[in-house]
Amino acid sequence: MAKRDYYEVLGVPRAASPDEIKKAYRQLAMKFHPDRNPGDKGAEDKFKEAAEAYEVLGDPDKRQKYNQFGHEGMRGTNFREYHDINDIFSSFGDIFGGGMGGSIFDEMFGSTGRSRQRRSHQGIPGSDLKVKIRLTLEEIATGIEKKIKVKRQKTCDTCHGSGAKAGTGSSTCKQCNGSGELRQVSRSMFGQFVNITTCPICSGEGKIVEDPCRTCAGEGRVQGESTIKVTIPAGVTEGNYIPLRGQGNAGQRGGPAGDLIVLIEEQPHQYFTRNGDDIVYELNVGYPVAVLGDEVEIPTLTGKARLTIDPGTPGGRILRMRDRGIPHLNSHGRGDQLVRINVWVPSKLNSKEKELLNQLSTMEHITPNEEERHGNNKGFFGKVKDAFS
Ligand SMILES: [Zn+2]
Ligand SMILES: [Zn+2]
Repeated sequence: MAKRDYYEVLGVPRAASPDEIKKAYRQLAMKFHPDRNPGDKGAEDKFKEAAEAYEVLGDPDKRQKYNQFGHEGMRGTNFREYHDINDIFSSFGDIFGGGMGGSIFDEMFGSTGRSRQRRSHQGIPGSDLKVKIRLTLEEIATGIEKKIKVKRQKTCDTCHGSGAKAGTGSSTCKQCNGSGELRQVSRSMFGQFVNITTCPICSGEGKIVEDPCRTCAGEGRVQGESTIKVTIPAGVTEGNYIPLRGQGNAGQRGGPAGDLIVLIEEQPHQYFTRNGDDIVYELNVGYPVAVLGDEVEIPTLTGKARLTIDPGTPGGRILRMRDRGIPHLNSHGRGDQLVRINVWVPSKLNSKEKELLNQLSTMEHITPNEEERHGNNKGFFGKVKDAFS
């Protein structure tokens, strides 16, 4: 595909001043920023195209070459084409006014994770940690505060995170003069190019600890174990997670701590299964109870409750106990407890019981007649009948 004219890309006249060029690029970069246009390939291409145009027109030497030779003038040099969005950030972060600490993008779009990866002069950020927490349905129904033990890197108490031995400090890294990055300048007939890399001596911090703390060997953090309180709201589901900001591993030499991600797991229940925010309970009743009705005691998430079985309740009927389920996580109200009635068939009988059942089976209403013998599918899925309303 033929490249568009760089002035056309930025929408500026050929006589535009450096400030006008910078302003035009800034506006385009904001408009087509990938964080604002997630998944939009067209916007990403425009973003890259604008970055490429700005790399040339924003540099007096390259701009002059481009004016003279056009796109041909850029060929054969070590001019980079931008394929990686992060590459654009690392090269152009400066013009957005933030320098190394964070660009205007971070202020505009919130932290995207890029700023955390970027080296800061305040040490190296700690990593995130993940822990799983297993909850019973009862705990999920009420919400709960849990204390969990986490092995994590903690700020060193001896040096308070600085990494330096008491009474000593850190000095500016001589390799990079405190900038944390190394610039390699190469010249070619088309101008001057700057390649920026993180300083390997100070890992981008710009400072070197002169006399490292003995406790942490200069890292400013040590391996430890902490007890952390987690407040879990009622209604969570397996797979939900709770991020605890700054509760992950401590950073090195005062760098920001990572996050602690608490992952929710659901423990299987002895009696209940969960269906959304409803809980399902299977109740076995004897044949006489199904026929004559009764009041029975059954478990719920909040203790025992009494349930009325109407006379003539067929097996498979589902009774709904309103508001006995799990609270909705993000709205008011809660689910129900659904009780499915199963007519229980005994597997062992003594002779007396057998005799009585045999007598019973010959009676008028006990065994289905020829017409009643054939079931139909009506109501197969069990009409839900309200037990309490
Ligand atoms: Zn220390
Ligand atoms: Zn350095």
